[in-house]
Amino acid sequence: MRRPAGMKVKMFMYLAVFSAIVLAVIVVFQIILLEPVYRASTRRQVTAAARTISGFDEGSSDYESDIYDIASRFGLCVSVFAITEDAGGGKTAVETVRAHTGQACVIHSTVTNEGLFAELYTRARQSDRGIYLETTELRNSDSEGSLICAAVSGGSGGAELLTLVNVPLQPVDATVATLRLQLVYISLILIFVSAVAAYIISSRMSRPVTAMNEEAKKLATGSYDVNFTGGEFLETVQLAGTLNYAASELSKLDTMQKELIGNISHDLRTPLTMIAGYSEVMRDIPGEMNAENMQIIIDETNRLSSLVNDMLDLSRLTGGKRELKKTLFSLTECVRETVARYSRLKGAQGYVIEFHADREAFVSADETLILQVIYNLVSNAVNYTGDDRKVDIYQSIENGVCRITVCDTGEGIAPEKLPFIWDRYYRTGDFHKRAVVGTGLGLSIVKNALILHGAQFGVSSTVGKGSAFWFELPEAEAGEDGETEKSGETEDDPESDKSTGENGENGENGENGGNGENGGNG
Ligand code: ADP
Repeated sequence: MRRPAGMKVKMFMYLAVFSAIVLAVIVVFQIILLEPVYRASTRRQVTAAARTISGFDEGSSDYESDIYDIASRFGLCVSVFAITEDAGGGKTAVETVRAHTGQACVIHSTVTNEGLFAELYTRARQSDRGIYLETTELRNSDSEGSLICAAVSGGSGGAELLTLVNVPLQPVDATVATLRLQLVYISLILIFVSAVAAYIISSRMSRPVTAMNEEAKKLATGSYDVNFTGGEFLETVQLAGTLNYAASELSKLDTMQKELIGNISHDLRTPLTMIAGYSEVMRDIPGEMNAENMQIIIDETNRLSSLVNDMLDLSRLTGGKRELKKTLFSLTECVRETVARYSRLKGAQGYVIEFHADREAFVSADETLILQVIYNLVSNAVNYTGDDRKVDIYQSIENGVCRITVCDTGEGIAPEKLPFIWDRYYRTGDFHKRAVVGTGLGLSIVKNALILHGAQFGVSSTVGKGSAFWFELPEAEAGEDGETEKSGETEDDPESDKSTGENGENGENGENGGNGENGGNG
């Protein structure tokens, strides 16, 4: 591909074209059209003067002074002749007014002598409105020729008045020669000004672009510590703003990606190491091929697959590919089963997981997703609960809305971290007494699944006392039909935004904690 020209060259070219157009306009108007324009305007002037003078009232006291006035104002020579006819049909012309103001007048010297007078008179009489315009070759030392306008009008006592107006035509050749010379100077000046202007304008415009390009190169090599400055133009300032925003987003993405790789590799490596280790033990050491070791391998394999499933679930949920398959089911039963399963699994380790519900509540929702929400919340509570290893789950129903609250007695979450716990791959990194291996995906799945349902959810947490995660679903009459919704439809639900916003609020007034607040319900 051809390399495009730089800003300076381009700008100079544009300005050079602009200058060439300006010069062409000057040449056309000042040189080529100078003579025709000058002649046309002089003809107009002389004709207008002849018409005006021939229209004056001969008997008026100002007659002569008006003629002088016009003549001197426009540099014209004027003669008015009274033409009378004698008995024999001969004509006599007597000059009644003479205004001799023009420098190179021909009517007072030549016209009458040359016999042109008679011709002008005749032509003017024959012409349409008594006005005849003649360009004569008559010239003297100062003029190129003359423009004479003859106008015939009626005078007093049956006489005719012949008004002759003369203006000498100035030679334009000398003017054109001067202008040509000037044009050369103007061209040189314009070329110089174009070059300087091109340099100044392009420097000012290219400076921020070049600077941004340098920063962008740094960005391209993965250095996110960049600062784009836009200079003095609105467009470049806007571009710099956009690039700065893009850089900060890229930086966040990069951090997230690194964390993700760290988390995933850690989470995948742990079960893989266990599987490999136990398999080797079972192969090499006689007597180790027992059901207990096999179970460990199975458990670790399950953990791996659940991790992979979590990732797939989340990408489906956030990618808008997951459709809601709503059915009517008992939310109470759903929680009860999860609790029972967890109790069986963790009971031996001293965990007490209790569900407090006073009646059965039905909801119309996607059972698989809601089950996963409950599972993730209970799993977190079990993982993060305090030394008493107690987890309490409460069901409360108010105004047709069923709320499930999962409470633990753990370390809680610091208020400044609360808004982020729902983010993908976010882990508070707080010290936990028991080794807690998580993916950082659990709450993100919870959030996306509940947003998809348009459900309210949130958390209240007190550092040192515990956390209470809750969500609400509208209670459905047993017997209502399920329906299928497209995931994208509920993503933008303002309600769901509100519910996410509630998280922070609850976190701040987390003094009472979920425990106290929900204890009454239980
Ligand atoms: P993880 O797999 O790490 O548990 P989650 O998305 O489920 O990922 O949770 C994100 C983070 O929120 C956790 O790493 C933890 O720091 C914090 N968290 C979640 N639930 C609780 C809880 N019940 N008590 C204290 N901290 C919690």
